[in-house]
Amino acid sequence: MGNAAVGRFAPSPSGRMHLGNVLCALLAWLSARKQGGRYLLRIEDLDEMRCPRSFAGLILDDLRWLGLDWDGEVPYQSERTALYERYEAVLREIGLLYPCFCSRAALHAASAPHLSDGRVVYAGTCRDLTPDEAAEKKKVRAPATRLRVPDEEIVFTDGVFGAYRENLARECGDFIIRRSDGVFAYQLAVVVDDALSGVTEVVRGSDLLSSTPRQIWLHRLLGFTPPDYIHIPLLCGHDGRRLSKRDEDLDLGLLRERFSPERIVGALACAAGLTDRPEPVPARELIGGFSWDRVPRHDLLLPDIFQ
Ligand code: GLU
Repeated sequence: MGNAAVGRFAPSPSGRMHLGNVLCALLAWLSARKQGGRYLLRIEDLDEMRCPRSFAGLILDDLRWLGLDWDGEVPYQSERTALYERYEAVLREIGLLYPCFCSRAALHAASAPHLSDGRVVYAGTCRDLTPDEAAEKKKVRAPATRLRVPDEEIVFTDGVFGAYRENLARECGDFIIRRSDGVFAYQLAVVVDDALSGVTEVVRGSDLLSSTPRQIWLHRLLGFTPPDYIHIPLLCGHDGRRLSKRDEDLDLGLLRERFSPERIVGALACAAGLTDRPEPVPARELIGGFSWDRVPRHDLLLPDIFQ
């Protein structure tokens, strides 16, 4: 039993890894290795303007430094446009795509319903344009490509957060799978890549929990079996503020000068509930005792050594 597990870490190299990324990479690695499974690495650099190659190289180097090894080649999403186009064509074939000419300002107009978490439900403005109307608008503006969603509840059980449900039509609306500049949206690329690389469990920050129903829907439309989803709590400071890429003092560039990899891994493992004390430990020594049952749902307090 066990060898079938395939985990992955899929960072967007828009900056150096910060502690939240390290925690995610660590937990995904521990989960896969505990099951004797494979651990894949994929660079999500769809937005090439924001994701220079130099950062991708640093991520690989940081993972090695942390003692987190991966299996196989490292795909770069920026090189896989032709592949995503094949799956875009499948969705077009089943009649679920349409061009959307809405500007950012129009999308945030007061008429669009806003959910309590600030997300905007697409009002469907371009859903029923006739081919003539669309052709006319195309003369002025390049369209994004949207996917029609059903008035249907997507239900799944997250490995940490438990039961999660979302009605795609009411709580999300038709969503973009390709931007007006031709760049594919994360939602489509992540589904195609996870499915084609045989990923069986997706471990990532809980900020992506609400993307999951859209991804499950895409997996089903494209004839794939969705992986298991395990979202992990986010790190926050004593002031309750969640860490973000902007917290540059907590990126690995500086942390590598101050701490050993064992110290960082030990502190994060303790913050995530895996150990009782924040003592330095090599990542591989955590594999044996790893269990998702230890990881809580609430935000994790940033270890004191980093505050
Ligand atoms: N590339 C995304 C990020 O770095 C993560 C995507 C995922 O794990 O599904 O935030």
